[in-house]
Amino acid sequence: MHELSLATALVEQVERVCEAERATAVEAIRLRLGALAGVNREAFEFAFPLAAEGTRAEHAKLEFEVAPAEIVCDDCGRRTTPGKIFLTCGACDSHRVRVTAGREFEIVSVEVIGAGEG
Ligand SMILES: [Zn+2]
Repeated sequence: MHELSLATALVEQVERVCEAERATAVEAIRLRLGALAGVNREAFEFAFPLAAEGTRAEHAKLEFEVAPAEIVCDDCGRRTTPGKIFLTCGACDSHRVRVTAGREFEIVSVEVIGAGEG
């Protein structure tokens, strides 16, 4: 499962944040997920606890920010939001488009417990 390797990579990144902040546990992880990132959110939410088991991220809550997709058309030059299935220009229906946003899958913030306390 593709999402499991993404979840494992995320947990590794979050563990590094914990090291840096001397955190004992992670409360929440906020992620930015692009509409075209090719990540299935449900599958990711299923995979995350498996990847996080035994780590400081084990009980972290996942929060998603969805980043809308945006394409720019090589024919008419407009920026539009593509449809769900085909990447075509919303203004002229051209297929000569480039994706300018929506492929991101990244950490926005990590809320940790234990940083600078007690
Ligand atoms: Zn166009």
